[in-house]
Amino acid sequence: ARYMKHFDEKCKGSKAMIEEAKKVIPGGVQHNLAFNYPFPLVVEKAEGAYLYDIDGNRYIDYLQAGGPTLLGSNYEPVNQKVWEVVKESGPVTGLFHPYEMKLAEKIHECMPWVEMYRCLASGTEADMVAIRIARTYTGKQNIVKVGGAYHGWSDQLVYSLHIPYTQTFEAHGIPKEATQNTKEFFPGDVDGLRKVLEENEKNGGTAAVIIEPFGPESGTRPIAMDFAAKARELCDEFGALLIFDEVVTAFRVGPGGAQGFFNVRPDLTVFGKIVAGGYPMAGGVGGSEEIMSCVAAGVKAGKKKAYVGGTLTANPLSCAAGYFAIDEIIKQDAARKAGENGDKLCDGIQALIDKYDLPFVTWNTGSIVHFEVSGVMYLSVTDPDIFKKIPERQHYIEEFGAALTANGVITLAGSRIYTSMADNDDTIAETLAAFEEVFSNVEK
Ligand code: PLP
Repeated sequence: ARYMKHFDEKCKGSKAMIEEAKKVIPGGVQHNLAFNYPFPLVVEKAEGAYLYDIDGNRYIDYLQAGGPTLLGSNYEPVNQKVWEVVKESGPVTGLFHPYEMKLAEKIHECMPWVEMYRCLASGTEADMVAIRIARTYTGKQNIVKVGGAYHGWSDQLVYSLHIPYTQTFEAHGIPKEATQNTKEFFPGDVDGLRKVLEENEKNGGTAAVIIEPFGPESGTRPIAMDFAAKARELCDEFGALLIFDEVVTAFRVGPGGAQGFFNVRPDLTVFGKIVAGGYPMAGGVGGSEEIMSCVAAGVKAGKKKAYVGGTLTANPLSCAAGYFAIDEIIKQDAARKAGENGDKLCDGIQALIDKYDLPFVTWNTGSIVHFEVSGVMYLSVTDPDIFKKIPERQHYIEEFGAALTANGVITLAGSRIYTSMADNDDTIAETLAAFEEVFSNVEK
């Protein structure tokens, strides 16, 4: 509450505009991640490691638009190249453009198992399509996902939605039938996965197992380092395809993504976010020629086809942006630099947790830094219902996020940080000072 004064006094413009927006936009904002407590901020400018609101406040930006920027926001060298392409082609043609091929080739260079790549409009769409390809290719219906994992908001996958800690994320309007072929297992539970696969054998088998190789929600629930390899073995044993959702991890954990990191081959890889270089329409699916031919645009005799469409997908803007951003990420060694920034932040936050003797935890996978301030030790959670037992958790996290924001640091929902190449020792020191200010005022 001590930081609420900041919002009332320093964010008057945002507050007024959101009130105005509520008349024409449900809730006043569109992005789930913009529903900041106590009210959403209206952004005027994003640049590198910073965000500026319309009241002229500057924030260090660890939301980074939700993960699509690794070079830093609004990265000028990529902008220049993208605008040159789009000046000629226009943003969309509905036909073929050279940058579609260049992007697919670039992705294949980074991830050799992605022999072929199909552009889509978002991570949500790409996850939907991966499932559709798997069902078409295997002729089976069931899909298996990790409980609480987010693979976009399609009917069949939104299911238990995020790690089910509060009512906030309840998902209505989904017919029961849409999820009857979606089965779940507890994060990291290899025996649980086997059990679900065995159960499915009595009921038509499993088309695909879909995982984030570092654990659900970008590793919010970390899983064992050998989990992806074990999932691979089980998929081979049960004749299911293994789908890696690399919407967050592709290019961010290294040019080779999580599959390169673990050296585990997925049958299908789902892309989003960085694949459009921080520009709109970020999504796609990749895999072997054999599997990906299910979505070939031309009719291939004797092949079953999964229907995929999209008026604006594979447009010159998104494809050129993805191509140039990935190229720059490789040239600048951006994943390593952003990862080192993540390591430094995580170490710094841990030192402050120790200093103030707080029951918080922090951990990171390179540029993805998590911190949990509700007192729940994710790392030791074995009770699937634990989050339902702590109804006040969400509010505590929101307040914590707001306190950091009032001190000039914007995080993802008060519990995650995406670092980028644009962070440096100064931004990190400033961030840790903000954490210290908030930590030192925690009521125990
Ligand atoms: N899969 C994962 C792992 C994600 O983190 C997200 C989005 O945050 C999605 C899928 C959905 O992607 P999009 O928001 O582009 O639909």
